[in-house]
Amino acid sequence: MQKERYRGIAWTAIAALMLFGWAATLGSVPAGRSESPARSQSKAQNSSVEKTQTKVVLLGTGTPRPYPDRSGPATAIVVGERAYLVDFGPGVVRRAAAAAEKGTPQLESTNLKIAFLTHLHSDHTAGYPDLILTPWVMGRTELDVYGPEGLEEMTKHVLEAWRRDIAIRTTGLEQRHALVARAHDVKPGVVYQDERVKVTAFRVPHGQWPEAFGYRFDTPGKSIVISGDTSPSEEIVAHCQPCDVLIHEVYSPESVLGMPDYKTYRRKYHTSTSELAEIANRTKPGILVVYHTAGRGPHGRIPDDQLLREIGKTYHGKVVIGHDLEIY
Ligand SMILES: [Zn+2]
Ligand SMILES: [Zn+2]
Repeated sequence: MQKERYRGIAWTAIAALMLFGWAATLGSVPAGRSESPARSQSKAQNSSVEKTQTKVVLLGTGTPRPYPDRSGPATAIVVGERAYLVDFGPGVVRRAAAAAEKGTPQLESTNLKIAFLTHLHSDHTAGYPDLILTPWVMGRTELDVYGPEGLEEMTKHVLEAWRRDIAIRTTGLEQRHALVARAHDVKPGVVYQDERVKVTAFRVPHGQWPEAFGYRFDTPGKSIVISGDTSPSEEIVAHCQPCDVLIHEVYSPESVLGMPDYKTYRRKYHTSTSELAEIANRTKPGILVVYHTAGRGPHGRIPDDQLLREIGKTYHGKVVIGHDLEIY
């Protein structure tokens, strides 16, 4: 245990040195270059807009069911040149790479440096080894992840499970830099803040999980609330008063699940379309983006327009059923 701790500190130290060298290189300005004042002023205005421009990129809108067009739950909040992930369901790094190719370079794998976890259910975490390892192999220097109790433990075990890979890649001919993945078990409240974003975690009720979080992101341009997995939550109502974007899970009451008492399970763990409509009426988000859509009825997948009809019975604001790689 103690030995592992020291090893972790050593990794951090090596990575910090390398990061410093990299930052120093980036900061250097080529000599002998000048621009007209007007051009540099408009460039400065553009870059200040770019610095704070916020978009929500849906990387995975699925559930445990492995629909090929719905990757495991993962959402990116992109502010200026920086990306912040919420959850890392299976497929997260490849969906992020797809988003980068489609015009959001902030989601190139080496930029996946900060992530927040809603809860430890496997559909939200099965991409964790991928998030830790793949961007590192591609050259990312460090990763910080924030989430409920149990995240640090999971991180330790992932690193341990892949320790032979990590050893070969760092001490063998690949000569990768040290792997730095820092996990932070956090409590509700402001869990992260930098010059672009403030991130607030709040508790949501998700069945027997002792701790599951939703998050609110405040950026210069937008306020975004993401539910994670939850039954109807007063905390979500309280944190979206108002918010520009509410990203919320849902199930259709017509869908079925292969477990003995799925109706009780659902009531305690998730939010139905009519319950979501009520939440939307109480929060009035600029746009409601529905994700983690559980919907397999007796005749196959429940179509999006049925979900929209169910929500639209009592909610008449702007609502969309989110799909992977859409941007809001
Ligand atoms: Zn889930
Ligand atoms: Zn869950």
